[in-house]
Amino acid sequence: MMKSICRFCLYIFIVLFLFPFSAYTQASGKKFVVVIDAGHGGKDPGAIGRIIREKNINLGIALKLGALIRENHPDVKVVYTRDRDIFVELQQRANIANRVKADLFISIHTNSATNRSAYGTETYTLGLARTEENLRVAKRENSVILLEDDFSKRYEGFDPNSTESYIMFEFLQDKHLEQSINLASSIQRQFKNSAKRVDRGVRQAGFLVLRNTGMPSVLIEVGYISNRNEEAYLASEKGQLQMAKSIYNAFCDYKSDCDRKQGAVVSRNGAKEKTDSSLQSENRTIVVTKTNSEKSSASSGSEIVYKIQIMVSPKKYGEKNSCFKGLSPVSYYRENGLYKYTYGETTDRKKLLQELPRVRKLFKDAFIISFKDGVKVK
Ligand SMILES: [Zn+2]
Repeated sequence: MMKSICRFCLYIFIVLFLFPFSAYTQASGKKFVVVIDAGHGGKDPGAIGRIIREKNINLGIALKLGALIRENHPDVKVVYTRDRDIFVELQQRANIANRVKADLFISIHTNSATNRSAYGTETYTLGLARTEENLRVAKRENSVILLEDDFSKRYEGFDPNSTESYIMFEFLQDKHLEQSINLASSIQRQFKNSAKRVDRGVRQAGFLVLRNTGMPSVLIEVGYISNRNEEAYLASEKGQLQMAKSIYNAFCDYKSDCDRKQGAVVSRNGAKEKTDSSLQSENRTIVVTKTNSEKSSASSGSEIVYKIQIMVSPKKYGEKNSCFKGLSPVSYYRENGLYKYTYGETTDRKKLLQELPRVRKLFKDAFIISFKDGVKVK
């Protein structure tokens, strides 16, 4: 009897308190969640310098970055994959980000090279490494899984030291690539302009920790621990704070861009106004127009033409490339420096809607986009 009364009380409690609360949080919008991932930790020191270990530099910058965000952005929730010197498995780091439904994942690492004169900063997004140097960085960072029990099973036989293992990153579909590249570019700009570091550019490589996160994500190499001067800078409080501030500035730009875009959606539904950001990105859209002989009747006149966007890549692929999984005809348009590949072309949106489930079996994030007079309709 007592038990059933208690259960009843609990039920009342849930109805009275939890439901209104969840309605409230939904109405006011979900908090923006950023996961800050200090690379390595505990038994895994990362790269080892003369005076400091990589894990300590990473943690120092991560905590300073998190503190800056918490101080200045009450609307942002900061989650650390580690906030002290402990070992966290690579998969676990991605799991944390996925579990809290993070909007952004920032992984912080420190580089190392046998050439001790190498120095400077790099920010990576997920993709196929185009150079030996980028592949080397991914191999070194991924090799931490060798410290995990059962890594072969957990990572499906992935061998971090074998170049063949990295082929899978070539045709990876990353729907967040564009946002990740935007943030990465902004971080590199800040490193150069605010912290006065050497900018070695935005790069791509196959990092396991980025592969398994379902949100825009970057991996930062804040400098070379193997370079005496850079190590001293990164070991210092001042150096770590400058790096954290640079990442923080880039984060602020990224976040306000997200907020603006959300605003654009609202105003389009309401007053049908376009914000500056949507106009800007429209200006950056370059649509590849077909030659007259190729041009189908569908794209003539000023009718709206519909296509299914299947993937985005910084790389240009031929129409017959196996990455399109046999879909034809495939074309592309360029936007923000990326190739955006589309399948099909018709003025009949319904027809494309019927096609969509079949295409999604091959490209699960495929969606319909429209063009008017060769310009993408926002
Ligand atoms: Zn590292």
